[in-house]
Amino acid sequence: MGSERNTNRRAMLASVLRCTALGAVAAAGGAAIVKRRRLVAAGVCVGDGTCRDCGVWAECGLPQALTARRGDHARAQ
Ligand code: SF4
Repeated sequence: MGSERNTNRRAMLASVLRCTALGAVAAAGGAAIVKRRRLVAAGVCVGDGTCRDCGVWAECGLPQALTARRGDHARAQ
């Protein structure tokens, strides 16, 4: 009976730790996304200058992204 209680306690502790770790990873990912968007809004390039491969290209308003989008538009016509 005591052994079963220890097993349940261990399982619960493992579950709490797993959920805490998952929450920390999700919070870190969210914070990174928010930071990236804030930097782009402040006019800072967060990519390596290769706009087409950049994760924020669709919403980026920096000159090189606008130029790259114009290039795509011109090629599509
Ligand atoms: S889309 Fe281009 S200009 Fe904008 S952050 Fe990415 S790499 Fe920099």
